[in-house]
Amino acid sequence: MVRVSYPYEAPVSQNLFDRAAAVTPGGVNSPVRAFRAVGGTPRFMVSGNGPYLTDADGREYVDLVCSWGPMILGHSHPEVISAVQAAVSRGTSFGTPGEGEVALAEEIVARVAPVEQVRLVSSGTEATMSAIRLARGFTGRAKVVKFAGCYHGHVDALLAAAGSGVATFALPDTPGVTGAQAGDTIVLPYNDLDAVHAAFRAHPGEIACVITEASPGNMGVVPPLPGFNQGLKDACAADGALYISDEVMTGFRTSRAGWYGIDGVAPDLVTFGKVMGGGFPAAAFGGRKDVMAHLAPVGPVYQAGTLSGNPVATAAGLAQLRLLDDAAYAKVDAVSEQIRTLVTDALTEEGVVHRLQNASNMFSVFFTGTEVRNYEDAKTQESYRFNAFFHSMLAQGVYLPPSSFESWFVSTAHDEQAVQRIADALPAAARAAAEATAA
Ligand code: PLP
Repeated sequence: MVRVSYPYEAPVSQNLFDRAAAVTPGGVNSPVRAFRAVGGTPRFMVSGNGPYLTDADGREYVDLVCSWGPMILGHSHPEVISAVQAAVSRGTSFGTPGEGEVALAEEIVARVAPVEQVRLVSSGTEATMSAIRLARGFTGRAKVVKFAGCYHGHVDALLAAAGSGVATFALPDTPGVTGAQAGDTIVLPYNDLDAVHAAFRAHPGEIACVITEASPGNMGVVPPLPGFNQGLKDACAADGALYISDEVMTGFRTSRAGWYGIDGVAPDLVTFGKVMGGGFPAAAFGGRKDVMAHLAPVGPVYQAGTLSGNPVATAAGLAQLRLLDDAAYAKVDAVSEQIRTLVTDALTEEGVVHRLQNASNMFSVFFTGTEVRNYEDAKTQESYRFNAFFHSMLAQGVYLPPSSFESWFVSTAHDEQAVQRIADALPAAARAAAEATAA
């Protein structure tokens, strides 16, 4: 394997990566973990504690990825761990209904008013896949509208993300997705209600649903413009389509009730994942009772899962959600703001053109001078500056998402000491970004 040379070493991780590459494509079980965008050796982590991760070489990092969102209480939160231990001691999977899944569903329904009923699944991908099937079954229509730059998991029909500026039928973005699977997907530019109205005019009575990230975090953080989500809901309602809000990333993170708690636009269906699983594979989709009534065993739309509502995963998720009170969100919001200010001050000090965007406590840095409103805007950033910035932070013990198209995440465990470590690392990283060249 070709080894990229960096001014710091991670020999144990490199050795594990070499072993992994022999038995797993690219050495990873989810592509972005491979550091392809930024280069270098992915860090193989062995433990997490509060705001810190420790890698196989024994180096500690302040974690600003938080497992891509789920770890909103930090790693190894004692109450989550003890709930998991208690659940494990009773057995790990029964394949029957259990009280834990009822309690988790009740917690979700209590937090998010438009969600009258919920079905538990094991991943965000399953949640969006099932929500789309349900929308198609409910409406008897085939077409799905999604937005370029929005990621909804690796659902065949949603991997069509070829974002052109006009409403087009998408070509699949990946081999293995056939034209038939993607052919009913209409991909539109994000934050463009005119394009949405044009799609409904072009396909009256044919669109089953519009699915959107409640506030996108998969092209970097690009919040909806004021009125955008409401406009989607109204356009759907006018045509008899369903409005699906994907809150896999934002749900129970951006507020108690996720992004719905911020913009108040009531979706017909909502998808959840990440935070609600407390670091375990648990996800969900839910919404209007009359729509959910179309799901088996009540209705004809089939959906199932051997490990759905798994007792260990639901115990972890429930323990985490119960700890997420107003004070916890206030803390995450405050530490996010503190870090955002530090980052932008350090970059400004070095004269680095950048734009820091946030949606509640989610945020990311774009190395560009203009507001990023959609995927096309996001692609204008100077990603090579991010890569230099990333590696400087990594070398100084701060773990950022290894791509400039990802959100950064913080937790209640990010205390003054962790923030200070970030502050100490930023000047050199900002200098590295300033000095980076496109080559
Ligand atoms: N939807 C959104 C908005 C996501 O961010 C993700 C994953 O990052 C998914 C769906 C897919 O979730 P999972 O990775 O659990 O399948």
